[in-house]
Amino acid sequence: MNSGESQRIGNGHGGKVIGGVRKKSGHAHRKSLNDSLEGEVKAFLIDEGQLHTYDDLTKVNPVTPTTVLKCLQARYRAKVFYTHAGCTLVALNPFQPVPDLYSLDVMKEYHCAPQPQESKPHIFIVAEEAYRNVQGQVEPVNQSLVVSGESGAGKTWTSRCLMKYYATVAACSSLLKSQDTVERIEKRVLDSNPIMEAFGNACTLRNSNSSRFGKYIQLQLNRSQLLVGASVQTYLLEKTRVAGQPANERNFHIFYQMMTGGSDEQRREWKMSHDQRFDWLPNAEKTLEEDCFDETVEAMLHLGINAEKQGHIFRILAGLLQLGNVTFCSAMDESQPCDLEEKSKDFMQHCASLLCVPVEELQTCLRVRTLRAGKQSALFKPCSLADCSVRRDCLAKVIYAQLFEWLVTFINDSICADNSTWCNFIGLLDVYGFECFQFNNLEQLCINYANEKLQQHFVAHYLKAQQEEYVSEGLEWSFVKYQDNQGCLDLIEGIPTGVFSLLNEECLLNRASDAKQFRVRLEKELSDNGSMSWDKFSKQPHFTVAHYAGKVSYQIEGMMEKNKDPVPPELIYLLKKSENPLLHQLFADRDPVGQGTRGLKQVVTVVSKFKNSLESLMKILHSTTPHYTRCIKPNTDCRPLTFKKEEVIMQLEACGIVETIHISAAGFPIRIPYTSFTQRYGLISNLTLFSQGAGEKGLEVDNKGALGLAVADILRVVLSHSLDPSRHIDNEARSSL
Ligand code: ATP
Ligand code: MG
Repeated sequence: MNSGESQRIGNGHGGKVIGGVRKKSGHAHRKSLNDSLEGEVKAFLIDEGQLHTYDDLTKVNPVTPTTVLKCLQARYRAKVFYTHAGCTLVALNPFQPVPDLYSLDVMKEYHCAPQPQESKPHIFIVAEEAYRNVQGQVEPVNQSLVVSGESGAGKTWTSRCLMKYYATVAACSSLLKSQDTVERIEKRVLDSNPIMEAFGNACTLRNSNSSRFGKYIQLQLNRSQLLVGASVQTYLLEKTRVAGQPANERNFHIFYQMMTGGSDEQRREWKMSHDQRFDWLPNAEKTLEEDCFDETVEAMLHLGINAEKQGHIFRILAGLLQLGNVTFCSAMDESQPCDLEEKSKDFMQHCASLLCVPVEELQTCLRVRTLRAGKQSALFKPCSLADCSVRRDCLAKVIYAQLFEWLVTFINDSICADNSTWCNFIGLLDVYGFECFQFNNLEQLCINYANEKLQQHFVAHYLKAQQEEYVSEGLEWSFVKYQDNQGCLDLIEGIPTGVFSLLNEECLLNRASDAKQFRVRLEKELSDNGSMSWDKFSKQPHFTVAHYAGKVSYQIEGMMEKNKDPVPPELIYLLKKSENPLLHQLFADRDPVGQGTRGLKQVVTVVSKFKNSLESLMKILHSTTPHYTRCIKPNTDCRPLTFKKEEVIMQLEACGIVETIHISAAGFPIRIPYTSFTQRYGLISNLTLFSQGAGEKGLEVDNKGALGLAVADILRVVLSHSLDPSRHIDNEARSSL
């Protein structure tokens, strides 16, 4: 491990090592929960009545899924929501506001504590540790806070808490904004949240405020460690939601906000009467606290999206809702384009006027395919009824996705600091958790692939690196088995024979997509990979991947089309003509025939784009010191203070928490690179400290200057971890001292 990385990745919060080096992996204990529960609890070496007091799971003995579960349950019952698990923080979702848990006073307490790690476990410890680490012991080191967990576990909530923490403790004095107003940068950074959540979050079955995109935000700090700006990167917005929502779910919040928060005048302009029903706005009767239009509008204003621009945005969104109510029917004469349903004519008219495009052209684009034959001539072919609907949905998706991208760029322009003003960053990663539904397709494959990459990052950065470091330093160590997911990653991203490569190849062939054919190809090329399997009796072509968090079956039907994500060029030509200045701007630089028709090699597929953006993210993560927070959803119904053991244990297993605890408990809580160590502690080389194998009593030192500092440091390590300090350095270091 290089010196930059190894400064304080470790368990910097003083978890006591009890039980020594453990040899069993958590998986050895994977019996059914009910079988194992009673037996293992009897084997507890600790007082069950005191379980809620164990603020670090490394202190639990023995460490098994069941004992860890019991401990978390006891703490949850006692309304203690944060627990250390070695190098990771486990955050249990209370599903109700917890008074004063995140107040200003609490922030100050953690920020001002000489040793925050010694305070009660809290997300602010992670925040503060990263904040102090940025300065580094030798040189500044960028930090990243990776927040993971399944949908509804509390990732976005946690990220918001972290942002508020930095906006408070690292508050910069006011900065001049371009529009003559003095705005505090921290406020602007925080204001990006309601905007992105309004446009990118939706109510799903699993979470009423589910993020339908991944987000990585870098908080930029200047030399004085003050927050001077931020930049946001987003991943894979679930744009299909705009034109179709799973049963009992909703569209993006912003549409409902407009319905409930728009003024009478606005609603008239948007053709949104109170009793109007929109096909793409299901469950509109359900009002949520997220439906807060005023907050979104105010945040937009703060970030410089003025009333005029907002007008353009809302007219585009209203146009999409009108478009969703447009339906088609077959023409009497089959050689003619489909007709519009009678009831759709007004919606089509409204849609065209809100999007500021000619209605005739809009209708034609949706119903007629233009086949270009050379530069001059073109052939026109009526679309099938199904194709008309596909084109309608495609128009909505491409507009919404482009608008979202524009918003992110605008936000970045507004909050990103000038390069010369910042030198370090703390990155916060809030990405969708592992997904496994009844039907899974390309979206889930991408999301689960991202989670595999993050898991690998965690394993590589913490578990593997720590174990390898011990071995290289000749320390006595028994390997803890951990689930290495490289096989699964090879299966998905392998070149030339991984699922993504084969899928891209299939798409590049540009032939009529055939799911069965692709399934045969996958089986032929990938049957050797242990992470892949097939249910031979299933009628639907599919494949099953054994992810680190569980098996997921992916449907192949529709996967190729989703990967190509084609947009008919006619639609782009139309949007370029829009007289809505924003809509026009969104498509001004877009090449209508850029995808799919200009030679095979030019196709940029969804998976290649996603893989590239994920690779850039991983590069950034690898260059920073990571801190992990695992959010746990204690019950699927989002009920306050309800702890369902079966649901929690599945999540604990999915994120390998038991292995993490084993390694943290057995490992050394503070690890200093040899050179830094000798630089800092060289002064005490004359002391007999190490040759005596000093314990708490063996120190007799002069209490002056650097020597005092060095000894104080060492004493702290010795006293807080009850470890023999000679174990912290290898033999070479010891003899040179
Ligand atoms: P998704 O992957 O679907 O975006 P998520 O992990 O981001 O899910 P959140 O939206 O952060 O989940 O949390 C779901 C809900 O849980 C929140 O809206 C909030 O009601 C509640 N919640 C989460 N964390 C806390 C907390 N620390 N205190 C109180 N309530 C919380
Ligand atoms: Mg979220």
